[in-house]
Amino acid sequence: MAVAQQTQTGNAWGVELPKQAFIGGRYVDARDGKQLPCVFPGTGKTIGQVAACDSADVDVAVRSARKSFDSGAWSRMAPQDRRKVLIKLSELILSHRDELATLETLNVGKPFLNAKNGDIPSAASCIGWFGEAIDKIYGEVGPTPADLTAVITREPLGVVAAIVPWNYPLSMAAWKLGPALAAGNSVVLKPAEQSPYTALRIAALAMEAGLPEGVLNVVSGYGETAGQALGRHMDVDCVTFTGSTEVGKLFMRYAGESNAKRVSLELGGKSPQVVLADSDIDAAAQGVAAGIFANAGQVCNAGSRLIVDRAVKDELLDRIVKYAKGLRIGDPFHADTKLGPLVSQEQHARVLSYIEHGKQHGAKVVTGGGRVAALGEGFFVEPTVFDGVTNDMKIAQEEIFGPVLSTITFKDFDEALAIANDTIYGLAAGVWTNDIRKAQRAAKAIRAGVVWVNCFDRGNMSVPFGGFKQSGHGRDKSLHAIDKYTDWKAVWYAS
Ligand code: NAP
Ligand code: MG
Repeated sequence: MAVAQQTQTGNAWGVELPKQAFIGGRYVDARDGKQLPCVFPGTGKTIGQVAACDSADVDVAVRSARKSFDSGAWSRMAPQDRRKVLIKLSELILSHRDELATLETLNVGKPFLNAKNGDIPSAASCIGWFGEAIDKIYGEVGPTPADLTAVITREPLGVVAAIVPWNYPLSMAAWKLGPALAAGNSVVLKPAEQSPYTALRIAALAMEAGLPEGVLNVVSGYGETAGQALGRHMDVDCVTFTGSTEVGKLFMRYAGESNAKRVSLELGGKSPQVVLADSDIDAAAQGVAAGIFANAGQVCNAGSRLIVDRAVKDELLDRIVKYAKGLRIGDPFHADTKLGPLVSQEQHARVLSYIEHGKQHGAKVVTGGGRVAALGEGFFVEPTVFDGVTNDMKIAQEEIFGPVLSTITFKDFDEALAIANDTIYGLAAGVWTNDIRKAQRAAKAIRAGVVWVNCFDRGNMSVPFGGFKQSGHGRDKSLHAIDKYTDWKAVWYAS
């Protein structure tokens, strides 16, 4: 079913810019008519407005999700039929790849080709993967006495609120939507205020794919209003959140102060890249540089702390600096651009203030260290490498979420592992060594949800992703993600 929507046309990019929220199968304005501005980070200019939903809109969205859930139109649909709808949605995302990539770049400034070849196909593959999986997951029969039979089934939870960040808007949404919808839930999705376009657009694609009305609702709006209203809603069964640790903790509080809803959190990180002297230095330099400069460092698992053996530090940094200097920074729609702007003025100022803090507290800038003045009002920051960092410095402890690498040296392996673990976070880590024993020791010792050995940021839908410690709990991707969106029911039959 095609759905009509009000859009803003006639812009320079040849795409229609969404303007309305999507509630109960229709595009609608916020009830009080409020809107929020969308800014293109490449120029710093406002390019459109979308509905700014508040608690009244959220309430309508939750009711519509509940109604669709209770109707059984999706929740009780045979898994093989849900499968067909999700596979169709995955195909529609792919066939709208250029449009969706343009919308993503307009919202967040990431290089268009990265969105087109990375974010959008990966979102499509996630939705398709969970569609494919859902009719292959079985329940259990308990080993009970002969006069009884216990059938143990997975049941969808009901209404799931998905609150997502701006760094990979569509893929982060897909990591939630894939398993939540596949399991039969209805969803209210709140994109980040900076990046509502693709979430709003795929709502129509989901209807076109055959998702029943009310099963997917998208409430664009601010965190403090729409986000908080979802977190505190008495009829939301589950919050699935990706974002900062600070806001993740708020969602636990909202749940505790409302209906004790289930909360799963994918939060921030300060991931170590441990480079031993025996490693392949070229490969390590490549992996460390890509691990901090990709997506302009706005990656939850960015390898932002380089923990390197003193003996090879200079050699490694030389190569990382060469890599940084070779990155073309600029217009994200230019085919050669490797590093786009940061997402917003606020983020730009935040990253620059961390760089200043590092300079003032004794760290040494090896390359970069400022904004890119030649690029006008866009939110560009130079790829920056600090040397001489100690792990107690702010730039080694706090998530900067920009293209800024902090280099810390060590003398022996145990010290390296201690530094790697000396953080409140535990999302990911990289280890670079050719010594299999050390690789194994490091992988076991580092407290993180993901450890990459002689590679970094590799991923696949079949492998879970998520953090230890204050990087959150619960896993996205893989069959384990289904756990977040289902409950087990035990039914006993007596003979
Ligand atoms: P954020 O500020 O925590 O925002 C995330 C979401 O929460 C947004 O939709 C936001 O809405 C909403 N929100 C903000 N304040 C809220 C409040 N008081 N109550 C309810 N909701 C609220 O994070 P971000 O700056 O968008 O994203 C960057 C963070 O995400 C980083 O810390 C990064 O590490 C993390 N991240 C983690 C993963 C992972 O898988 N572990 C993946 C990607 C990103 P607004 O947009 O209106 O603020
Ligand atoms: Mg925010």
